[in-house]
Amino acid sequence: MVAALDTEAPEAPTTWVNSADSHVLEPDDIWDQMLPAELASRAPRAERQGEREILYIDGAVVRRDPIAYTEAIRPPGARDPRRRLIDLDNEGIWCELVFPSRGLWVPLITDPVLTAACCTGYNTWLTTEFLPVSERFIGVATLPGLDTDDAVAELGRAVDAGFRVAMLPAAAPPGRSYNDETWEPLWAALAEAGMPICFHAGSGSDPIVNRGPGGAIINYVETFFPVQRTLVQIVAAGVLERHPDLHVVFVEGGASWIPSMMDRMDEAYRQHDMFVHPRLSMPPSELLLRQVSATFQHDLAIRTVIDVAGPAPIMWGSDYPHLEGTFGHTQDALDKAFEGVDPDVRRTVTAENFVKLFGGPAPPAPGAVAA
Ligand code: MN
Repeated sequence: MVAALDTEAPEAPTTWVNSADSHVLEPDDIWDQMLPAELASRAPRAERQGEREILYIDGAVVRRDPIAYTEAIRPPGARDPRRRLIDLDNEGIWCELVFPSRGLWVPLITDPVLTAACCTGYNTWLTTEFLPVSERFIGVATLPGLDTDDAVAELGRAVDAGFRVAMLPAAAPPGRSYNDETWEPLWAALAEAGMPICFHAGSGSDPIVNRGPGGAIINYVETFFPVQRTLVQIVAAGVLERHPDLHVVFVEGGASWIPSMMDRMDEAYRQHDMFVHPRLSMPPSELLLRQVSATFQHDLAIRTVIDVAGPAPIMWGSDYPHLEGTFGHTQDALDKAFEGVDPDVRRTVTAENFVKLFGGPAPPAPGAVAA
């Protein structure tokens, strides 16, 4: 086991957890490092202009984010994986599932060739530059969503490179809903490889849908609708029924909506039975409980989810180092979410579900310090 760096241990006893939602901050020149010059010049590129960070893809302006948003990412280890381990020790986070940051822009590319090259480039960069630092980092391979053959090919490379989990855009690519039969070879390949597939909120669509009054809250809430839509498409189309070994994970979309989604899907299955096609051998809620997980950072209604669905479909994530996450208040966020919850159930949600699905080291016992 790779130990944390020789630094000051957390002062107070810590409840260690694993985070199923964390991010690397890639270097600004990652595509220059990893792609041939012609492709790198068309890859997602952020440039500072005044108070805005302008995102270009293939020469076109795709997003204009306030620089203040980027600069609000403050964890000292955000760009340094060794310093990051100190942050994790201080927060009480043992093992992390590592998603991209800049790589989340890749699904906004419309050229399949460039998309596939960026996925290969990112996955290669992650396995060579970041993951070797510690086995506490579990990398997520990013798969191209525009072409199923490309996705299956990248999955094969990812398996060979040692990845144990992969991701697709939370919002289905244009014209390619996740209930579309063209995805079938990928679902089969993922099940065959035993690779859980993640859908991270905010990926695959422009998160800014409204610039009017209330935009900040409207746009933040909007990011979880594609997550829910994708879940329904996969469950209703019988993907999970046909592939009982396929596990799907919805990341950073919260988890407190799980009970209402179970009710809504089952209502359709039961009351609109004559329209349901393909036929499912069990209610959608049972497929969800068998093969779906969702991650949350701050949800207080998680206690209701545990009452209705049990702890199996939920995992906790810190979203380190992003602004929506728990850096600086992780233990407080955990205590609030799990107030009144049995400690064994809390450990299932914050550690055991993670280890079962992704492998990786289990967190130390409560109160232990990093060694
Ligand atoms: Mn996240």
